Amino acid sequence: MNLQELEQLMRDLSQPAYRALQIFEWLHKRFPAAGGAFSFAKMDNQPKSLREELENRCYITQSRVVEQLTATDGTVKFLLELRSESAVQVESVLMQYAHGPSLCISTQAGCRMGCYFCATGQDGFIRNLTTGEMCMQVYAAGDIRNIVLMGCGEPLDNFNATLGFIELITHPKGAGIGQRHITLSTCGLVPEILALGERRLQINLAISLHGPDDTTRQTMMPIARGYSIKELIAACQEYTQITHRRITFEYALTEGINDSPAHARALAKLLKGLLCHVNLIPVNQVTDSGFSPTKRKEAQAFAAILEQAKIPVTIRRTIGAEVNAACGQLKSKPL
Ligand code: SAH
Ligand code: SF4
Repeated sequence: MNLQELEQLMRDLSQPAYRALQIFEWLHKRFPAAGGAFSFAKMDNQPKSLREELENRCYITQSRVVEQLTATDGTVKFLLELRSESAVQVESVLMQYAHGPSLCISTQAGCRMGCYFCATGQDGFIRNLTTGEMCMQVYAAGDIRNIVLMGCGEPLDNFNATLGFIELITHPKGAGIGQRHITLSTCGLVPEILALGERRLQINLAISLHGPDDTTRQTMMPIARGYSIKELIAACQEYTQITHRRITFEYALTEGINDSPAHARALAKLLKGLLCHVNLIPVNQVTDSGFSPTKRKEAQAFAAILEQAKIPVTIRRTIGAEVNAACGQLKSKPL
């Protein structure tokens, strides 16, 4: 529930409006700061009768850390059990960067998109996560200021819950995380990218591109058959025009598939004039996928071609692989 919905609930229960904000603060500020269990019973500034009424009518999404693994590079992988109307297990990852910690959360249990190089995609779809379940991943990880929606699932395939999450987690009366500290990564759902642009958010948008042309992209991801590169780039163009925000293109360098100098030149040509940045990531090996990472030297040559064409580019190092927490290695399961 967002604040307006809580206010409506208070009206329905003939309660004063200010209680909505008090309850909102418990859920998004006071319980997360206390690090303990979230419950209506503990809301001690609320009348007992209201607490009981809430207990009967509503539920608070619960999360429980089932397992926590720390890699030597400081990356922490959490296996969380989330319980709303039903329970599910998902993974989230706390990464340590020079600019501070960043939490990678899941938006779905599993994923429908089936990208061939991704463990989540290979396992199929379980269900959408709710807005509350996304918030709870953040609250379970402690005092978080940077969030990437890059765990399990395709955030734009769960559009309303994801947008609800961004609204709640950035709310100044709650966690108050800045929109610019949130990155949403999508495999490229064109209508939803346009719909997201209409919201005029200041979040960072990342597009998983992985190929400069339809044929190459189709060998990596089935969604490339749904939308052509031309449609995708047109949507990105429109997105940057509306939001004035730079788009990041994610490109998983895969040996012999998308990593030749010709691919790099085609990519440079494709992105010319677009307000963007390219993130090259040597693909992480996922069991049986048959995709192997491009070697360092070839990755640098690929980056150099983009640089020459004045396309901003970085080669991202893999972190968290030791605890299977790197990109594409996350899993979920039903309970
Ligand atoms: N579904 C969204 C967000 C989750 S995946 C998306 O696809 O963008 C987050 C990022 O990890 C995406 O850029 C995805 O392409 C990348 N990824 C998935 N599997 C990977 C792998 N095995 N190696 C490197 N990156 C991978
Ligand atoms: Fe889903 Fe993203 Fe994995 Fe593709 S890469 S299967 S969209 S999680």
